[in-house]
Amino acid sequence: MTKQYDLHCHSTASDGEKSPLELVRHAVSHGVEVLALTDHDVTDGLAEAGKEAQLLGIEFISGVEISVSWGKHVLHIVGLNFDPTHLALQSGLAKLRLQRQSRGELIAERLTKAGVENSLQGAMRYSSGQILSRSHFAKYLLDAGYVKNLADAFKRYLGKGKPGFVAGDWVGLEEAVSWITESGGQAVIAHPTRYGLSATKLRVLIDEFKQVGGKGLEVISGSQDHNAMRSMADYARRFDMHASVGSDYHGPSQSWLKMGRLPPLPDDIEPIWSLWADS
Ligand code: AMP
Ligand code: MN
Ligand code: MN
Ligand code: MN
Repeated sequence: MTKQYDLHCHSTASDGEKSPLELVRHAVSHGVEVLALTDHDVTDGLAEAGKEAQLLGIEFISGVEISVSWGKHVLHIVGLNFDPTHLALQSGLAKLRLQRQSRGELIAERLTKAGVENSLQGAMRYSSGQILSRSHFAKYLLDAGYVKNLADAFKRYLGKGKPGFVAGDWVGLEEAVSWITESGGQAVIAHPTRYGLSATKLRVLIDEFKQVGGKGLEVISGSQDHNAMRSMADYARRFDMHASVGSDYHGPSQSWLKMGRLPPLPDDIEPIWSLWADS
């Protein structure tokens, strides 16, 4: 029997709702046996999560989800199984967090013009870690009564083309992959079907990603449906990429993404953990 892997989720160190410790407890109670915490542009939750995972007897893998600019697209690259103390990785992530702060100021300016007051201070109140995310703005919009739910906040204010949308200027693909690789880890394209890329563009991306040292695709993601899974499994076969698996769990209020509910990978696909010495 293969173990239950979940290699993509979030804690309060970024835009998740559970502390790293609570998240690990939640994962264990839902049957996860190998867990990676992959907060956006920050690794601050890893130490606490790793300690709790050890106490509870599950395997813990270091992780991060890096914001990348690729042409006009924003991509998420998950890094797994790296050394979190690596300097190039940490100074790179620190730069991204500063960029998040400046983007947050721009978002707030735009929201002010759209009639939403005090959103910068508001969003920052929901951010207990070192990153400011659109998720924090969404929570402010919800609690201040501007929208009915979080999805609505993205639909009306924060999503592409909406009044508060600022794409952000992140790191390039090659540089992000190099931070992960140089710190000893593997880079994986997170939820590849969520970027609205044509089949041609996705092939170009995977080719380029492989050339710069990328190793895998999220074939199974809580935010991808069954068809997407089959399609990504095909890409993994065709491009000889390893497959990763993750819920993208953020907490109870985003109820469509759950832990411990992921289907198994198809048998003929090499999982990303086959690259890890002791798996
Ligand atoms: P950012 O990295 O600051 O651009 O924020 C993106 C985050 O917003 C994602 O990681 C999700 O957690 C969240 N998000 C994006 N789209 C939606 C949506 N439609 N509904 C709820 N949360 C969303
Ligand atoms: Mn998120
Ligand atoms: Mn993502
Ligand atoms: Mn994520």
